[in-house]
Amino acid sequence: MNAYRIITKKRDGGSLSSEELEFFIRGFAEGFVADYQMSAFLMAVFLNGMTTEETVALTEVMMGTGKVLDLSAIAGKKVDKHSTGGVGDKVSLVLAPLVAAAGVRVPMVSGRTLGHTGGTLDKLESIPGFRTLLSSDEFVRNVEQVGFAIAAQSSEFVPADGGMYALRGVTGTVESTPLIVSSILSKKFAAGIDSIVFDVKCGAGAFMSDFSEAQGLAQELVHVSSVMGKTGRAIITDMSQPLGFTVGNVLEVKESIECLRGRGPDDVREITLELGTEMLSLAGVDSDAVKARRRLERLLDGGRALEAFAKFVGAQGGDRRVIDDFTLLPNASSVETVVAEGEGFVSSIDARALGELCVEMGGGRRRRDEEVDKSVGFSLFVKVGDEVSKGDPLCEVHLNRGASSILGRVADAFRISETPCERRKLILGRLPEVPG
Ligand code: URA
Repeated sequence: MNAYRIITKKRDGGSLSSEELEFFIRGFAEGFVADYQMSAFLMAVFLNGMTTEETVALTEVMMGTGKVLDLSAIAGKKVDKHSTGGVGDKVSLVLAPLVAAAGVRVPMVSGRTLGHTGGTLDKLESIPGFRTLLSSDEFVRNVEQVGFAIAAQSSEFVPADGGMYALRGVTGTVESTPLIVSSILSKKFAAGIDSIVFDVKCGAGAFMSDFSEAQGLAQELVHVSSVMGKTGRAIITDMSQPLGFTVGNVLEVKESIECLRGRGPDDVREITLELGTEMLSLAGVDSDAVKARRRLERLLDGGRALEAFAKFVGAQGGDRRVIDDFTLLPNASSVETVVAEGEGFVSSIDARALGELCVEMGGGRRRRDEEVDKSVGFSLFVKVGDEVSKGDPLCEVHLNRGASSILGRVADAFRISETPCERRKLILGRLPEVPG
């Protein structure tokens, strides 16, 4: 067996055996399959896809490149959620403390910015001192003592996904069902969870822009989970406009804290409560959806979720004073306002364009090893359906360089029409549970 033959077999449309996948992925994690060979392999998978058997094998092999945690010593079901990636998607920052405050243990292994989409880890790392690289002992201890932990994959933990994820983000190979499924599930299952809710994003700002593609991804996530002995559920949610009113690491942390105070934007709160209700049901805490939702609303509005967040920030080395003092977070050097050039109704806000502009401003990565500028991004004033007058602010742009070339393109991301437009539906579909 050799790497060259495995790449050409996939390039020519063949199916790879689990032995071949094991050889290639392990070889990459151990350093004898090179980055350029992995990039070619990823493109071959992107173009030719994989059978479900291959996706299961790929997930198992990726998972096996590091430690697989056993959390059975921690009482109760361990439940997680994962989003397939969006713009302004800060839900994990609100959902994990909220569900933990309801008594569910949430061992969450998250991702970094990927392509034009944001990543939970980069957002959290904008809190001074916050560490996302935890040893497995610390991760398990925090899940037990704090109720949840959010960590990165590492050299100890799904190392193959770290390298593959970084290469996908810069080689145009992100939007591939088998690569998304194996990336998500290898991390999640290595963290020792029992069940999971998927938030499959659909729309221009997501990796799956049309509903049938998003549904296909949701089905594959739930199906592969079940083959691997885990119970999964999925909801499909709108990602045609950014979620909430902010895009960019620090700005999203601030908005998440507002949400944890019970004051966040309606769409972030709604998706959080929907996913939280599913997680409480999977954990066996509350299978009555109405009761579960009420419980979560009380925890959010009564400050218990915020308390859990503060404990978590402290446990992972972050400065918890930021919760009451946003001036301790990094700020961009200038803030420019983009205004409506005419009156009418906001008919679309191009989430993908804003995500790509955020990357261009330094808020994401164009090269694997690039530092992310945590302070840049957008604060929106409008959502699709809102009425605006000429001169009304649409968006603030927080940036550290190159204002003139960016502002016109930010304005182009907002479309204003003369006729009223319908507000977008947030929850587009649901997949029934498939037991593991
Ligand atoms: N989240 C992940 O962890 N991986 C993907 O490929 C997409 C979203």
